Amino acid sequence: MTRDDTAKITELQNRGIGYKRISSLMGLPVNAVKSYCRRHPVSKYGICLQCGAQIRQTPHKRTKKFCSDACRMAWWKAHPEQAKRQVYHLTCAWCGKPFVSVGSSNRQYCSRACYADARRKEARE
Ligand SMILES: [Zn+2]
Ligand SMILES: [Zn+2]
Repeated sequence: MTRDDTAKITELQNRGIGYKRISSLMGLPVNAVKSYCRRHPVSKYGICLQCGAQIRQTPHKRTKKFCSDACRMAWWKAHPEQAKRQVYHLTCAWCGKPFVSVGSSNRQYCSRACYADARRKEARE
């Protein structure tokens, strides 16, 4: 394996591509790629989806996909179809519990029950 090969493997690994796919992409034996990946885990780094810059990951934190907010915004702008599936972590305006909303950042309540309770209170006041 040449230095170019290993650099390419690292790059592909950073994009989250498995060793089987890497070996078929590069025409290298699966076992060679596999043992290289084992010896050189890349969990500490990621590659920015927008500009390709290397991102230092924080251990035990969620994996970062972008090097900066500017890249994140540019990428979401270029991939609006992905935004539909974006997950937002929101806080319920009624019960105060955190909840997850897929595809919409302007949901206010975690459930229909909370929405109904909030509306009822509004009507009473
Ligand atoms: Zn970037
Ligand atoms: Zn709620």
